[in-house]
Amino acid sequence: MNNKAAGLIIGAHMSISDGYTAMVRDAISIGANAMQYFTRNPRGSGVRTFNEEDIKNALKLLSENGIPCSHIIAHAPYTMNPCSAKEDVRRFTIDIMREDIERLEYFPGTLYNFHPGSHTGQGAEVGIKQTAHCLASIMTAEQKTVVLIETMAGKGSEIGRSFEEIRDIIDAAEAENTSIKGKIGVCLDTCHINDAGYDVINDLDGILERFDLVIGLKRLRAVHLNDSKNPFGSHKDRHEIIGNGEIGIQAIERVINHPSLRSLPFCLETPNDLAGYAAEIALLRTLYKD
Ligand code: FE
Ligand code: FE
Ligand code: ZN
Repeated sequence: MNNKAAGLIIGAHMSISDGYTAMVRDAISIGANAMQYFTRNPRGSGVRTFNEEDIKNALKLLSENGIPCSHIIAHAPYTMNPCSAKEDVRRFTIDIMREDIERLEYFPGTLYNFHPGSHTGQGAEVGIKQTAHCLASIMTAEQKTVVLIETMAGKGSEIGRSFEEIRDIIDAAEAENTSIKGKIGVCLDTCHINDAGYDVINDLDGILERFDLVIGLKRLRAVHLNDSKNPFGSHKDRHEIIGNGEIGIQAIERVINHPSLRSLPFCLETPNDLAGYAAEIALLRTLYKD
């Protein structure tokens, strides 16, 4: 890695199927100094067998390469729904997320990202209260893991489609459990916000001013860096390879260099294999201004 590129914290969504150590090794092999993985199979709730040796080796490899756990995003399975109309689904989501957080304490400071859910016809206001209750139930003052709410595109009955909805979730969770005050963070997904109606191409400054006003920039802890297959405001959520979509390379270049974003961990979730991710990371490093 040359000096010019050393400042950009960038990674991609990786497979965890061969364990933590293999994931970290793969991430390093594509030039990443950040990474994301699913805590469980997104299609089910099964969790990998817990292997202390694997965790120890992964932690060693991370530290040898100067990658702190705060550059790792553990993504909750997106099939979980903390604001389902079905009570058993909501309860199951709380159980799964609580167990995930317990396991993540082995990687202190990991970012635990989740989708705030779909209200499935109950209305956004009810959904916001239920997702807030989930956070208030699973988080503790002692945990090292940082829980992040992901900004959503607003497809179907998704909540978290606006900064205001995310603020309302945070406010309600902190009101229910005052011991977690200031501990909930946010992950900004560039495809999702553009699809949600935030104009990433023409109004990045305005978007971040709005974010600061409504939520507060100190809550912003990570960025999902994706282009979008669909135009601004489409509420679709289909990711595209960097530069091949509606957002385009110039807007992405402004995102990674923006003073409010440039020091955060960026993670690609583009439709790509490892070689494709390596090429995207190399391109983004040349566009990053030190
Ligand atoms: Fe996500
Ligand atoms: Fe995302
Ligand atoms: Zn998405």
